[in-house]
Amino acid sequence: MTDQITEHQAIETDALIVGAGPAGLFQAFQLGLLEISSHIVDALPYAGGQCIELYPDKPIYDIPGLPFCTGRQLVGNLLEQLAPFKPVMHLGQMISGFEKRPDGRFAVTTSTGAVFWVKCVVVAAGVGAFQPKRLAIEGIDRFQGKQLFYPLGPAEGFAGKSVLLVGGDDVALDWATALAAAAATARPKSIALLHRRDVLQASLEATTRFKAACEDGAVSFAVGQITGYVEENGVMAAVQVMDVEGQTRPMPVDAVLVFLGLSPRLGPIADWGLEMERKQVPVDTEKFSTRIPGVFAVGDINTYLGKKKLILSAFHECALAAFGVAAHIRPDSKIPLQYTTTSTRLHTLLGVAPVSAAGN
Ligand SMILES: Cc1cc2nc3c(=O)[nH]c(=O)nc-3n(C[C@H](O)[C@H](O)[C@H](O)COP(=O)(O)OP(=O)(O)OC[C@H]3O[C@@H](n4cnc5c(N)ncnc54)[C@H](O)[C@@H]3O)c2cc1C
Repeated sequence: MTDQITEHQAIETDALIVGAGPAGLFQAFQLGLLEISSHIVDALPYAGGQCIELYPDKPIYDIPGLPFCTGRQLVGNLLEQLAPFKPVMHLGQMISGFEKRPDGRFAVTTSTGAVFWVKCVVVAAGVGAFQPKRLAIEGIDRFQGKQLFYPLGPAEGFAGKSVLLVGGDDVALDWATALAAAAATARPKSIALLHRRDVLQASLEATTRFKAACEDGAVSFAVGQITGYVEENGVMAAVQVMDVEGQTRPMPVDAVLVFLGLSPRLGPIADWGLEMERKQVPVDTEKFSTRIPGVFAVGDINTYLGKKKLILSAFHECALAAFGVAAHIRPDSKIPLQYTTTSTRLHTLLGVAPVSAAGN
């Protein structure tokens, strides 16, 4: 074990779930039913994976027993179902390190320095961690975190600044209107939104709010692209903006907030020795275990004969993977199958009132 890992306060739990999408959330629930503790890590600052990131308000019609729900409702339901097990989520952090410990457990580290010592890892990483698409301007990255931001969290911290937002989708527009609506003490000095086209790619609601903020004079809108920046005394004083006519001019800025969408990146998981097949992890269909004993994979990240990337498939995989994890952790115990309807033990775990013999 490296010194770096032992120096940190390691979090010890039975299983670490990588990904808080529908698979990761339901995995934690299934592990809870088998009395296996788990923590969940996700790169996004919120749970829900693709359901929240890609289609929060779109309808889903093929969840068993739920004729209709949106992505957001499904995630809300999964979180409610999971609540009795008091899930511990570590959001806004990427898995960075993975190694086997001499005691047979795994040491897993994250980008924020969290360290886990776990008996099993369940990879529920979907199509990868959603990462903001970067501005392709050489050298501009050095201002990241100081004057250049790829925001995922709340619209705060820009009071009194000249802020330029880049992008034309709902997120960019909502950020612009949220900054404009901030209390006077928290409001930026100026707010401009720059989009490469004069047509915004946002919902009617977000566009209406944004246009109202523009009409109020709180936000200005420009069409063009950032092609460079002007540095003065180590500070980004302005960005060079090329307009639709090809004319480039400097635009003074204190902060640039970039909203060019997210793209998935699997990250270091690809280097764990899991024998990737086209960015997916081969598993067996009995326990959904990978080639590394103690490491399981569920949901969109895995592959096997007949795999279908559906939430329904992920849920089934989570149930069987939970039994696989239980067998790995307690190799000498028989793991009984219990029904949530009738098992008093499960009722206790779920914190629900026992059902009378009459079934009321
Ligand atoms: C537009 C659209 C519509 C869809 N409609 C349906 C439908 O109607 N019915 C249906 O069944 N399916 C539908 N799907 C597919 C469904 O969304 C996926 O099958 C499902 O989201 C897979 O769940 P998952 O938990 O495996 O992965 P994801 O939802 O992708 O979640 C994975 C999570 O893991 C995190 N992660 C990945 N790598 C790391 C890392 N290294 N460190 C930290 N975190 C990491 C990611 O940030 C992400 O939050 C749809 C998909 C799309 C794009």
